[in-house]
Amino acid sequence: MSEDQTTQAVNCSFCGRPQHMVKRMVVGPNIFICDDCVGVCQSIISSDTAVNQGDTPAEDGSVDPQKLPTPHEIHHFLDQYIIGQDRAKRVVSVAVYNHYKRLFSSTMIHPETELQKSNILLIGSTGTGKTLIAQTLARMLNVPFAIADATSLTESGYVGEDVESVLNRLIQSADNDVVKAQRGIVYIDEIDKITRKSDSPSITRDVSGEGVQQALLKMLEGTIVNVPAKGGRKSPNQEMIAIDTRNILFITGGAFEGIDTIVKTRLRQRRYGFSSGLNSDKGPSEAESDDLYDHIQPEDLQKFGLIPELIGRVPVMAVLRALDEAALIKILTEPKNAITKQFQKLLAMDNKTLVFDQDALQLVARIASKRKVGARALRSIIEDVMLDYMYDAPSSPEATITIDKATIDQYLETKVSESVRDEVLNVDLPKTPN
Ligand code: ADP
Repeated sequence: MSEDQTTQAVNCSFCGRPQHMVKRMVVGPNIFICDDCVGVCQSIISSDTAVNQGDTPAEDGSVDPQKLPTPHEIHHFLDQYIIGQDRAKRVVSVAVYNHYKRLFSSTMIHPETELQKSNILLIGSTGTGKTLIAQTLARMLNVPFAIADATSLTESGYVGEDVESVLNRLIQSADNDVVKAQRGIVYIDEIDKITRKSDSPSITRDVSGEGVQQALLKMLEGTIVNVPAKGGRKSPNQEMIAIDTRNILFITGGAFEGIDTIVKTRLRQRRYGFSSGLNSDKGPSEAESDDLYDHIQPEDLQKFGLIPELIGRVPVMAVLRALDEAALIKILTEPKNAITKQFQKLLAMDNKTLVFDQDALQLVARIASKRKVGARALRSIIEDVMLDYMYDAPSSPEATITIDKATIDQYLETKVSESVRDEVLNVDLPKTPN
């Protein structure tokens, strides 16, 4: 092996970059490796050595294999922040446990069996807790975390962000420590919005749809990716960082609105009478819809517009249910960082006690549920309602602030759109049969 002295054009056999784009190229018999890829190899070997010697890579802030939380513990931790979504929590707890077990797997146990990556697909409408689950997992495991929106990505070379920009964000969240980033979690939102534009392979390039799906494949599966050290798009003569994505856990999420109709059609075609309503040609009813989401199969995702290769790379699927009013009330009050607790803490600093009446909470939950953005609506309602109190509290003699139903009634009257208000007020009226 020698440092390259030849004038002949060579490319790194690992990342494919030409010589003029790297600092050093090391030459072996019919093989070339650039300085960046040497760095990645070095980090892989040193982390393997650390595990084999029983070292705890937790010293660098990553997961400690000795203290790997069990699925029960992961579920329990998620319970502190996420209301409901029990099935999804269970699925995710097992997937994450397996993912990190694979990372630290001993080569001594079943050496012939290779453990595959268990990237996750979360399906659920907006504001049901998809991002929160991914975020909470990263917090529990103390690993770097990055969020990306699939709709802002495009195939390399087109207007928009390169798929690899996701990794730049992860490296930043790891304080530029690539080794740490290599064990992180990436959440890719709105994966359902990059569906292929038609069922048959496209004639024109589909750079924001199928093109992005194709570009994600390698990264999700595990490869060495070169990302520009300073972010942005790749360009010649830029300093690059090589990052290995084999041990990065990718969690993808989307609402997959309308997939229930695809599931319904499939089930009806197979005469799988799981509900008598399925015999009708109409779209699924609201009640039916929730159940249909539980029956999603990979072929439904394909019909929806995900390419089979991508579906294969997110083998673990969990469905998050729509949150009802009871769940929304719990979200207001129960999680460790519940919004009402946050305001109580802020006002306690002004020596004030903040009390929320139960029927006020109920009305907040009802307004939120009519806005159809899941738990997302709760925060904006409480922020709005609390504004004047927060403004007056430090200069007011009152020791206790009570948010009662009258307070929320006034909010409903003045701040809520007419259509939502009507729905909130008419909620108990008998429904007209359809
Ligand atoms: P999405 O499913 O669209 O990714 P998010 O996870 O971003 O939704 O949720 C938005 C906000 O709503 C969260 O920050 C959190 O405050 C709240 N939230 C949503 N779902 C839940 C839940 N199941 N339990 C507790 N809070 C939730």
